[in-house]
Amino acid sequence: MDEKSFTEWSLKAAKWGADYRASLRDRPVRAQTAPGAIAAQIPAQPPRTGEDMQAIFEDFEKIILPGMTHWQHPRFFAYFPANAAPVSVVAEYLVTAMAAQCMLWQTSPAATELETKVLDWLRQAIGLPEGFSGVIQDSASSATLSAVLVMREKALGWNGNKKGLASQQQLRIYSSDQVHTSIDRAIWVSGIGEENLVRIPANGPRRAMDCQALEAAILRDKAAGLVPAGVIACTGGTSTGACDDIAEVIRVAHAHGLYVHVDAAWAGAAMICEEFRELWAGVENADSVVFNPHKWLGAQFDCSAHFIRSPDDLVKTLAIQPEYLKTHGRDGIINYSEWTIPLGRRFRALKLWFLLRFHGLEGLQTMIRNHVRWSRQLAERLAEHRDFEIVTAPMLSLFSFRHLSEGDPDAHTIALVNAINDDGRIYLTQTRVDGRVAIRFQAGQFDMTQEDAETAFEVIVEVAAALDGQHEKTKASR
Ligand SMILES: *Cc1c(COP(=O)(O)O)cnc(C)c1O
Repeated sequence: MDEKSFTEWSLKAAKWGADYRASLRDRPVRAQTAPGAIAAQIPAQPPRTGEDMQAIFEDFEKIILPGMTHWQHPRFFAYFPANAAPVSVVAEYLVTAMAAQCMLWQTSPAATELETKVLDWLRQAIGLPEGFSGVIQDSASSATLSAVLVMREKALGWNGNKKGLASQQQLRIYSSDQVHTSIDRAIWVSGIGEENLVRIPANGPRRAMDCQALEAAILRDKAAGLVPAGVIACTGGTSTGACDDIAEVIRVAHAHGLYVHVDAAWAGAAMICEEFRELWAGVENADSVVFNPHKWLGAQFDCSAHFIRSPDDLVKTLAIQPEYLKTHGRDGIINYSEWTIPLGRRFRALKLWFLLRFHGLEGLQTMIRNHVRWSRQLAERLAEHRDFEIVTAPMLSLFSFRHLSEGDPDAHTIALVNAINDDGRIYLTQTRVDGRVAIRFQAGQFDMTQEDAETAFEVIVEVAAALDGQHEKTKASR
């Protein structure tokens, strides 16, 4: 591509992006495509000769766009958000254009030094004390895997990487039964093994890990000759927002010399608001904390902030220094690739810098407080409606509910979720609470307004009534 076309198509892409964002409210949130419909439009063989850019771009709009689910849609209430604030998109344009591989300080000093600075801004923003060092991981899953590897190496006297696990003592890791599946994966991949992830029951309104049961399990394992290595606590579990009592988990864990990792992938963003910090009270004593600025905060995916007490332990676990990576005579500088599992690193700090400067903490706090308020208001309206019940009360901006109807409640709930998402005006997902299906609602999209929350209420009530109407009809025609 020559310079002139590169300019032309770059400008076109940027303009397209802005128009796309402006058009989101008129699009169905979830892709309305049948499985295979997109693939069927893509030729089986690669092109032998280059194609015209105009044709490629037109196919993007014609074939690809209809198969997209619009994560930046203001009425995206499914999963957790993956917000990309416009200002972070602008930063990503620049990062994409420079396309630097920032694995070492010397492969882009600005990327490393800005990362250190903005992660320290974030540390302060969420109220973590000095003494935590931050690094950007590609995902919370990677941060958790890194933390589990540190647990493993510390518990094995740094012999796991060296000797493998076959000749080692059996390690044990503890978490509640509310944690994200990334914890299971970290346990598998680290070689610790699923049977050594001890699930401690969670209870109470916050579905917090039972810390007496935690301590009993640790003592039982020690007595049996097993080696307790660490605890993974959660603030804001994925299903219903479960929050462990972090202070108590850490008290128990540290009394037995265990490493504590706190997974606050979604809820961590809310900690920029002081009033929510009681949800993770005690976090200042954790060994490792992860939260995703790429979820609620607005930093374009991917961008996961990992804070650790002892970077030395992390580097001792993950650093490899073959000759070609040595940066001679530059002691004391940070090479962040030694803090993460992949060697290669994108320049992720720039979008955080742009985001925090453009919106300021106050702008982001207002967004999060609005989401929490609108979500609570919606939960109240559904609770007052005789056809609905709240299954789990709002935790920050996340709650779950059910529509009361005749027949099999799980089948009805799933049918309602599908009908709502087929309608297209809003997008929701389901979860399982105490064995039964419930509809999950979270408010969190960057451009959401109070009106969008009101639309959500109207759509839910309307689609549920229509579904009941259909049941009545099928019954009558039998
Ligand atoms: C989203 C989420 C994760 C996984 O985050 P990735 O960055 O996609 O790996 C882990 N834990 C919790 C609680 C989450 O909400």
